[in-house]
Amino acid sequence: MKVRAQFVKVRPVRWSPFPVEHISDRYKQPAAAPTVATCPVCHAVFMRGHWQWRPAPSGAAHLVCSACARTADGIPAARVVLAGGFEGTHRTEILALVRHREAGLRAQHPMERLMSIDSDDQGTV
Ligand SMILES: [Zn+2]
Repeated sequence: MKVRAQFVKVRPVRWSPFPVEHISDRYKQPAAAPTVATCPVCHAVFMRGHWQWRPAPSGAAHLVCSACARTADGIPAARVVLAGGFEGTHRTEILALVRHREAGLRAQHPMERLMSIDSDDQGTV
């Protein structure tokens, strides 16, 4: 009869000196989200676990997407600040590139959006 030693060593696979802190994100999709939902603001469709641009199926629930919620609250997920002499002289070209890139991203990913562009003498945010 074979007897196998039952040594069980419990070791973490990876040790990190920094504790993993939970950062709450109130704009994260809730775990109890409906299976199929449509955003009443932008008409994106939540299906198969992510937001998509597609025709809304009949009987879909209404759920405001995180991008529309962030826009309504005025809280962007990220902020880009452009400043300096080059930005001042090439502002229109830079903003055209930004808008072009945003249009491409938004066509593929409904949550990738440009919330607002504010320009003044100091630069562009
Ligand atoms: Zn939306």
